[in-house]
Amino acid sequence: MASAKLELISIFLILISIFSTQVLSQPSECETESSDSCNNKSKALPLKIIAIVSILITSMIGVCLPLLTRSVPALHPDRSLFVIVKCFAAGIILATGFMHVLPDSFDMLSSTCLSDNPWHKFPFTGFIAMLSALVTLMVDSMATSLYTKKHHAGIKPEGEVASGDQEMAVSSGGFHGHHHGHQHGAKNDLEGSQLLRYRVVAMVLELGIVVHSVVIGLSLGASNNTCTIKPLVAALCFHQMFEGMGLGGCILQAEYKFFKKAVMVFFFSVTTPFGIALGLALSKTYKENSPSALITVGLLNASSAGLLIYMALVDLLASDFMGPKLQGSIKLQLKSYVAVLLGAGGMSLMAKWA
Ligand SMILES: [Zn+2]
Repeated sequence: MASAKLELISIFLILISIFSTQVLSQPSECETESSDSCNNKSKALPLKIIAIVSILITSMIGVCLPLLTRSVPALHPDRSLFVIVKCFAAGIILATGFMHVLPDSFDMLSSTCLSDNPWHKFPFTGFIAMLSALVTLMVDSMATSLYTKKHHAGIKPEGEVASGDQEMAVSSGGFHGHHHGHQHGAKNDLEGSQLLRYRVVAMVLELGIVVHSVVIGLSLGASNNTCTIKPLVAALCFHQMFEGMGLGGCILQAEYKFFKKAVMVFFFSVTTPFGIALGLALSKTYKENSPSALITVGLLNASSAGLLIYMALVDLLASDFMGPKLQGSIKLQLKSYVAVLLGAGGMSLMAKWA
């Protein structure tokens, strides 16, 4: 599974590189380059290298922070902290969708650099985000029903199964190993499918976040404005750390083994540095305001916004707040809402800078 994910993400990164190289081939008709005293390519280069290193480190810290809460023994037994960390993370993901990715897409697709005819006549961002949310729902529901069908294909009606231990072991033993009885088996079944769901959610979220992370890195890498780079580096460090905490909270509930966790952490941490390096490599030809760059990145942003908003609301927030743990305690619910608001508020604040 780790190698499949590795492949998936590298394909994604390659796709982004291809998109951006295509962007280069078209000359920009919408120049906004100002040649003031701030533009200094040789001074900008060391700043970008500092940016690559510091963003890499802060991303890793951010994404590992929620994972560490697991290894604090005093906090492990009572799982209410676990729920609160998850809610904080969900708030961050929700704000990433609503406050970062969606407005970016609106900005890009309504840019004056784009031709009037299709782009200013129809709200493409909202349309694509809506479709993307619906497609996510479709994939979510169909994958779940296919999984459940496949999983229960061999199981006989309840009464018969309960009669024999062996039948149960044969029918669903392939996934969980062994079962000692019907009750136990059904419970494991439910937990197993919930865990699988969390794992899929964590992976898809990483993909949804990747677009935004690469794009902010790309614009830093392509810029030679030394006056804006310095504060931007600091902002991006906080940005990636916070976003990392959001993703880390989702990786936490997926309960991966160490290696898979490390792979997820690694891929999240390299996305923005990768974007900076890409922007650096293409800084001669990459124009943020070229129509093809605006359209490509704008559409990608719109679809990841739909995905992030759907996942944050349905798969993270609703499933937690409507689940048995939070429904059982109003006090824990209130604490969790505070956590959601803190996460969403912090990430919204970040939108001021990147
Ligand atoms: Zn952002």
